[in-house]
Amino acid sequence: MERLVVLGGGESGVGTAILGQKEGFEVFVSDKGIIKEEYKKVLEHFEIDWEERQHTEEKILNADLVMKSPGIPDKVPVVVKLKEKGVPIISEIEFASRYTKATIIGITGSNGKTTTTMLTNHILKEGGLHVGMAGNIGDSYAKMVAEKDFDFYVLEISSFQLDGIVDFKPHIAILTNITPDHLDRYEYKFENYIASKFRIAKNQTKEDYLIYDADDEVIVQWLQKNPVQSKLLPFSINRKLDEGAYLENDKIIIKTQNNTIEMGTDALALEGKHNVKNTMAATTAAKLISIRKETIRRSIENFQGAEHRLEKVLKIHHVQYVNDSKATNVNATYYALDSMKTPTVWIVGGVDKGNDYKELMPLVREKVKAIICLGTDNSKIKDAFGNVVDLVVETFAMDEAVKVAYKIAERGDTVLLSPACASFDLFKNYEDRGKQFKEAVKKL
Ligand code: ADP
Repeated sequence: MERLVVLGGGESGVGTAILGQKEGFEVFVSDKGIIKEEYKKVLEHFEIDWEERQHTEEKILNADLVMKSPGIPDKVPVVVKLKEKGVPIISEIEFASRYTKATIIGITGSNGKTTTTMLTNHILKEGGLHVGMAGNIGDSYAKMVAEKDFDFYVLEISSFQLDGIVDFKPHIAILTNITPDHLDRYEYKFENYIASKFRIAKNQTKEDYLIYDADDEVIVQWLQKNPVQSKLLPFSINRKLDEGAYLENDKIIIKTQNNTIEMGTDALALEGKHNVKNTMAATTAAKLISIRKETIRRSIENFQGAEHRLEKVLKIHHVQYVNDSKATNVNATYYALDSMKTPTVWIVGGVDKGNDYKELMPLVREKVKAIICLGTDNSKIKDAFGNVVDLVVETFAMDEAVKVAYKIAERGDTVLLSPACASFDLFKNYEDRGKQFKEAVKKL
């Protein structure tokens, strides 16, 4: 019996354990931290051996195959030792994909993954297909492969998941964009991170498709130097393309293999240029699997966006409150500010991952009437914008930030939480930050 060791007892780890057992492996799950009660119950139910608060090397180094959760860096001692021994270490998407014949749509990029994944899934479902959505989102992909029999998977895939693939090959890959992020895991080299994102296309053949943002210079230049096998289907909001998706007179045009469809953008459920891009990516994928035009149109109009992504919370005294807590980097916030159509009171700050605020300057000048800093250290934000915006206020709790925003905002304004930073200084995670924002707004 082959021994499968799963490092990390979270959603993807426990799912992998279940699939591993079903496929005849002897499975062991090891977590250096504490495994959640609900996951322990599942492991007990399946009689899968597990440990927490430690990695017992005698039970790990004898593995034939290791699935490492994406959160565990390569540097940790047990991973280093496994590598020295030559034990193959893979990710959940690699493992699970070995046991399904479903058509896979894999979505990666620095921003827009979740939105594009949810939208693609939504269109396919509206098209009547039997589709599962997984990856970095919702339930474990491996568990779905073990328990369900979907014809299609729409997978949100992080660069860490891609680092652990060998043969994984999506029939349709979407690369939303590439901007510097997570560089701490890539030796602070942007090239390493780009290379990691492009692994999504590494096993694709000419029967497969790569959908990508043709306005993104990083992607375009990389492709010129490092061509891929797959058929390229770019999208652009700036120029017309021979093949792919582009804008013309505010309509999205999608051209594939001598077939063209057009869709108006005014009825799009999601706002902002970035969401036009996400919509182009998702609809191109839907078109490739022959979803009907009418279905695609209807789906992009009735799609409910994802929580914490430019989510409209409430209008109070004609002031719109918007929760964009998921904007944990400058690029995401760029698009949030870009989509603002009114004077904006901007709540920003948190843990800065090496932000350069320069690119936000023109938008801030044009739209932001006040900045409310919300973080333990706000010095960088004050330095960057102190001379640009008349009013910069420091706050250290969400309630306080929202109350200050309420005082400053006038009829017709928008209060936007789009932090451009991670949340760990004052909050558990971005969801917690977004929830606290919404609660504070509801209490006003
Ligand atoms: P991800 O899953 O890649 O983090 P999300 O869909 O959760 O992406 O969006 C993350 C943040 O980035 C949100 O603030 C959202 O408004 C913004 N965003 C969404 N799509 C894009 C895009 N194509 N380009 C830039 N920013 C985007």
